[in-house]
Amino acid sequence: TMPQPAHKRILLKLSGEALMGDDQFGINRATIVRMVEEIAEVTRMGVEVAVVIGGGNIFRGVAGGAVGMDRATADYMGMLATVMNSLALADAMNKAGLTARVMSAIGIDQVVEPYVRPKALQYLEEGKVVVFAAGTGNPFFTTDTAAALRGAEIGAEMVLKATKVDGVYSADPKKDPNATRYSHLSFDEAMGQNLGIMDATAFALCRDQKLPIKVFSIFKNGALKRVVMGEDEGTLVHV
Ligand code: UDP
Repeated sequence: TMPQPAHKRILLKLSGEALMGDDQFGINRATIVRMVEEIAEVTRMGVEVAVVIGGGNIFRGVAGGAVGMDRATADYMGMLATVMNSLALADAMNKAGLTARVMSAIGIDQVVEPYVRPKALQYLEEGKVVVFAAGTGNPFFTTDTAAALRGAEIGAEMVLKATKVDGVYSADPKKDPNATRYSHLSFDEAMGQNLGIMDATAFALCRDQKLPIKVFSIFKNGALKRVVMGEDEGTLVHV
């Protein structure tokens, strides 16, 4: 028999920046396609995958605020940026033979369907990949918090936070050759060491809900698969 995945349902958080690839801005198609291959591999294993994607490759509320924009307005622009990323990601997934559905936290019904929790659960049970767009739907929050929130709502076994580095290190591995990767850490240890794995709101929500966070690299070949197989890949933050 085939080895079975250790996790049945996961919430994958991708930053907007991950979509840029080596570009300075926007959405790099080749990068998305590569990412989708990793996602397709785990869905074929029967893992239910939900995705929250950021918008930092297009617009961030803080950047708007910094140049004198009303912060809440700028945040709505940021949320709309995540909708664009979600559409690009879902398109690539559909082209790759997956069935993806985008659900938005803010009403833009002509573009994507609204987020309705029972419907999202139904899609996941049907093996569809659900992409949660528009973050939490509220300004002053982040897509990391959306990942924690949706992860808790759908009963995901863990939030997978995709980063450029393949886990949490004791120091910056690019600068310090002695930096070592933590295999796992408790929420308290991560907070005590100020590791900044997610923003405080997202982190507190995961901690309260006892929802583990796995930090890993989506660009390391097969890393997502190793994570869902329960192997020692990336860094697990747990209760
Ligand atoms: N945003 C928001 N509420 C949310 C999620 C996102 O206002 O619940 C806005 C916020 O302005 C943020 C932008 O959307 O800067 C893009 O999201 P984020 O910065 O989390 O993207 P990432 O850093 O993951 O690319």
